[in-house]
Amino acid sequence: MTPQPRKPIIAVYPGSFDPVTNGHLDLIERGAQIFDQLIVAIARNLEKDPLFAVKERVEMLEAVTFELKNVEVAVFDGLLMNFAREQDACVILRGIRAVSDYEYELQMAMMNRKIEPQIETVFMLPGEAYSYLSSRLVKELARLGGPVKGLVPPIVEERLRAKVGVS
Ligand code: ADP
Repeated sequence: MTPQPRKPIIAVYPGSFDPVTNGHLDLIERGAQIFDQLIVAIARNLEKDPLFAVKERVEMLEAVTFELKNVEVAVFDGLLMNFAREQDACVILRGIRAVSDYEYELQMAMMNRKIEPQIETVFMLPGEAYSYLSSRLVKELARLGGPVKGLVPPIVEERLRAKVGVS
């Protein structure tokens, strides 16, 4: 019997991306190398007081992933698992930076598995240089006028400068 062609593996990488950092980008590049298609999905209703509007977050993500042809950017409302099913995804990609991420990520992965056992959560580690980096830290630094160069892509640096006046 001839083997059936394998179904493309579609992964969803969900998050707030407020804003996208070089750590997110590192993970997106790693994910794009192993999955056939990677959907970076911005959760519309996660954070109550975001710095960037969803539209701005989409624009920044689209700009920084432009050259990755198997990566697309989307926005979702409500349950991640519903969105993942609609996209025909079989993987949720999440990043783990330090042990501190593990507990929350474990809880969420287990809950998501309960909701949809057919979809696996896959964790990836960023490059060492990004293992301390978070959107929250970047925003704090920017608000205090600290340098964010090297922590976020240039387009994000520009937008941060326009928004909070980073040096
Ligand atoms: P959320 O609010 O869902 O945590 P984030 O945008 O902060 O959204 O993060 C989305 C995902 O990216 C999470 O899995 C998070 O652990 C991961 N992540 C964030 N920053 C980094 C980083 N520097 N390196 C690797 N993964 C990261």
